[in-house]
Amino acid sequence: MQDYQHILNEIYTTLKKVKTKGEVARYIPELAKMNPDHLGIHLRLITGESFSTGDTNIPFSIQSISKVFSLAKAFQLMGNKLWKRIGVEPSGNPFNHMSLLEQENGIPRNPLINSGAIVIADILLSHLKNPKDDFINFVRELTHDDTIDFNETIALSEKRTGYNNYAAAYLLKSFGNLENDVEDVLDFYFHQCSIMMNCAQLTNAFVVFANRGRCIHNKKHLSLHKVKRINAIMLTCGFYDEAGEFAFEVGLPGKSGVGGGIVALLPHYYVISTWSPPLNKKGNSYLGMKALELFTEKTELTIF
Ligand code: GLU
Repeated sequence: MQDYQHILNEIYTTLKKVKTKGEVARYIPELAKMNPDHLGIHLRLITGESFSTGDTNIPFSIQSISKVFSLAKAFQLMGNKLWKRIGVEPSGNPFNHMSLLEQENGIPRNPLINSGAIVIADILLSHLKNPKDDFINFVRELTHDDTIDFNETIALSEKRTGYNNYAAAYLLKSFGNLENDVEDVLDFYFHQCSIMMNCAQLTNAFVVFANRGRCIHNKKHLSLHKVKRINAIMLTCGFYDEAGEFAFEVGLPGKSGVGGGIVALLPHYYVISTWSPPLNKKGNSYLGMKALELFTEKTELTIF
């Protein structure tokens, strides 16, 4: 077996010396308060061994990474009927872009851009009895950790300033692609984005996508049919309009969020999460991307 701890330590030391790191997200006021110096990397092999370096036990706002959990839940509930309301193509545009939505009659390009995740939030509102409770319990179950929760302050902060998401939701509503009230759908969406998790918890939760639908306790949550499709969407749409660059440099399916987290996986082998708040111009964690590039270069473990 490779010396994973040594590899993570080396990456950490190298990245701590990097000077230009990008900027912490400021458009959600609460996120602007994050300390830009955090850096954590957590790796878990499918066989169960874990390796950690840096700030892997500090929870952060997972933001768009939550879109993978909501997609998984909606796919569980609706099966392939989901694809009548959302596409599976990369958008080639920023996560909050709207002109394509208008051109394509309110059918979002994919479930990982904001408009797509808002449609998924609508589906969960229609199908879950107690939407927020049921959703957080799903995330807790995948992680095997009951301490995971929403951050009300961050959800409220985004609600106050989320004009772009309001615009997308009203556009979706005007095209008939939202069943519920815009306010209710966005309340759910802002809450899902506010979920706090640390790198270790995120890594554990994503084992379900690397292990053919089985979580860390080997319980089956998703069929391979679904896992295959969710991983394909992560590979092609998981990094805003930088998914090509991520596949090119890192070579793994994954998802990032504007809280500075990234989680990526090699099916049947491992899940790895990174956290460093400053983002590059495309909205992905600057050091997180570098860490993952170094990891797949050093270990030669990529899907390609
Ligand atoms: N809640 C954020 C938004 O909707 C999520 C953005 C992200 O992490 O990509 O703008």
